[in-house]
Amino acid sequence: MTEKELIEKGYKKYTGKDIDVFYNKDMCCHSGNCTHGNGEVFKVCRRPWVLPDNAAAEEVKAVVETCPSGALQYIMKK
Ligand code: SF4
Repeated sequence: MTEKELIEKGYKKYTGKDIDVFYNKDMCCHSGNCTHGNGEVFKVCRRPWVLPDNAAAEEVKAVVETCPSGALQYIMKK
């Protein structure tokens, strides 16, 4: 999906240097795969709760791909 499509579907954007992460809270099933996958990037008690630059883009991508609900998406920027 493009960024425009994600925003239209209700995703919120979390901007990083090499990767942007998108999150749709209405789709989240609270599996915890994201926070267990990388607690520096995904931390529920922090605002913003997603900080894409706290890990390498490939690592962020790999964790996003473990999201079972589709609530997390990403767009690589290079
Ligand atoms: S991995 Fe996806 S479904 Fe699970 S808690 Fe994170 S955002 Fe929600």
